[in-house]
Amino acid sequence: MAKKPEEMTREERKYMPYEKVPVVPVGTVPPLGVLPEKMHAWVIREDRFGEPMQSFRQEIVDVPEIGPNEALVLVMAAGVNFNGIWAGRGKPVSVLKITGKDFHIAGSDASGIVWKVGENVKHWRPGDEVVLHCNQSCDTYCGQCVGYDPMMCQSQKIWGYETPYGSFAQFTKVQAQQLLHKPRHLSWEEASSYGLTYFTTFRMLVDRAELKPGEKVLVWGASGGLGVFAVQLIKKMGAESVGVVSSDEKGEFILSLGAKGYINRRKYPNLLWKDNASPAEEKARMDDWKAFGREFQQKAGTNRGPDVVFEHVGKATFPLSVWILRKFGRVVICGATSGYDLTFDVRYLWMHQKSIIGSHFANGEQAARANELVISGDIKPVMTRRFTWEQIPEAHELMAQNKHHGKFACLVSAPAFDLKNTEEARGFRAAA
Ligand code: NAP
Repeated sequence: MAKKPEEMTREERKYMPYEKVPVVPVGTVPPLGVLPEKMHAWVIREDRFGEPMQSFRQEIVDVPEIGPNEALVLVMAAGVNFNGIWAGRGKPVSVLKITGKDFHIAGSDASGIVWKVGENVKHWRPGDEVVLHCNQSCDTYCGQCVGYDPMMCQSQKIWGYETPYGSFAQFTKVQAQQLLHKPRHLSWEEASSYGLTYFTTFRMLVDRAELKPGEKVLVWGASGGLGVFAVQLIKKMGAESVGVVSSDEKGEFILSLGAKGYINRRKYPNLLWKDNASPAEEKARMDDWKAFGREFQQKAGTNRGPDVVFEHVGKATFPLSVWILRKFGRVVICGATSGYDLTFDVRYLWMHQKSIIGSHFANGEQAARANELVISGDIKPVMTRRFTWEQIPEAHELMAQNKHHGKFACLVSAPAFDLKNTEEARGFRAAA
């Protein structure tokens, strides 16, 4: 008699037969070897582009087929990122134009269980508990991927943004190189919350800015998704951060994560860039910049500007980021929440020999190195709120309105909060 999947060795599960079923309810972990033909998903379509409460709708869609180097993952929980908001708005670009599909399932962070693997997949098997990093490349062993950095690959894409099957669905398909070990001490929702922003932060500070012990860093949006990891990692690397926030409550929060100090930007009403400022407004802005610079020095315990500015706000802050750096300082930037057409006075750049460094997500090796620090407990996820499956649009809406700090995560197949592994998730179901 044929073995059941749970009686098979890990190796045997690679080739196990699958029993097809039509669809299973959300919040359910089916037995290994059961493969639904359809799945529940939150889907974005062009005719409802807009803010998240409008753009995200529940639908039942086909479970995707996987290729030889891919894996199908049962999503247990999914993390919320700003790119889900961009995707829903259809701006600044329509993701449907990138993917060539008429639907989009957002979500670039997940924890889950490997459900099925393609024939070329060597290291992962159905049943493995994983978190996902969101970088995809060509999957054909091109020179850039193999010989340099998969982020250089001509086919580089962000899964769940530039690909159609993200994590706000029961199943997602990913390249096998995206799979990382789930930290065993974390719940499914905590494990789904950190990948995109933490791995991006890791590349920005470790590999792109090459932060050194003793350096001083100004961190914009320090209580946000990137910022909470920047503050932790800067400390771990022996450097010091002063974080910018918009309330004292957020400031206290980042001190608890290891920031040396914080600046409440609300104290400086003229700080942010505005186009077409009058001479009087320009003077008020420069006065605020100088006072902000003095507060940075006082909080950082230095008589110079920052060695590194951690940037992702873009238009509103970038001119100040270039201006405030010490000589030979570096701005490392990965985003532009407030706008991407940046204006700045280039004289401060060349006369003081400063550098602007672009950075985008992370490659698989960097994500794995960063994940080790979560597994060891040196870096902690900062999940400040968790949501049910039904609340996925609301979680995005709160982020769009900047009514959040840290990271949000949502249940998908995990039947309840605080469950840490497959047995606990199945056990909860059995007890219910
Ligand atoms: P987030 O959680 O919303 O945090 C951003 C923080 O920026 C907010 O907490 C806010 O803090 C601050 N902020 C927003 N608007 C501001 C303004 N006009 N002036 C000053 N500060 C402002 O978002 P996130 O997850 O950290 O992501 C930030 C950006 O980076 C997004 O645009 C995202 O798309 C991008 N990103 C890019 C990559 C990549 O790989 N390239 C990866 C991750 C994120 P306060 O209000 O407290 O100051």
